[in-house]
Amino acid sequence: MPDQRISKVTAKCLCKSVVLEVHELATGFTTCDCSTCQYIHSGPGFGASCNDVKIVQGAELIKSYKPAAWATWNFCSKCGTRLHYQFDEEVWKSKQNRFVVSVGLLYEAGIDKFKMINEVSYDEKPPYYCFAGQRPKLSTSETYALYVLEGQKP
Ligand SMILES: [Zn+2]
Ligand SMILES: [Zn+2]
Repeated sequence: MPDQRISKVTAKCLCKSVVLEVHELATGFTTCDCSTCQYIHSGPGFGASCNDVKIVQGAELIKSYKPAAWATWNFCSKCGTRLHYQFDEEVWKSKQNRFVVSVGLLYEAGIDKFKMINEVSYDEKPPYYCFAGQRPKLSTSETYALYVLEGQKP
């Protein structure tokens, strides 16, 4: 699949207290339908992979939560914006795509080139929504298999 990257994007949370610098951002994003995303987002999670996230401002306001042994979610504790999650280094050995940023945050930062490229944990999707258009839909076990592969890439 084409892997279009944007070298650097500066994004802010809703209350503008947290400022992130997003590096090597992929414009093709993944929709996650897993049950954790239903809790966190009240719906699917739209996540765009990138190679690094640097916190420019508001680091003291960022609260983290580990919904799984292998990943950590980061939130603005003032306004509740879901910022990004990162795979743990022991799990994700690749230098690429260890960080996944909320697509809405980046859209509001002015990035309008996004395209949904796949849906993961599709077997956990609630029946009350579905997206138009054709794209690969991966089950949770297929998703883990893909991430294990991606996480090992040099
Ligand atoms: Zn905020
Ligand atoms: Zn999810």
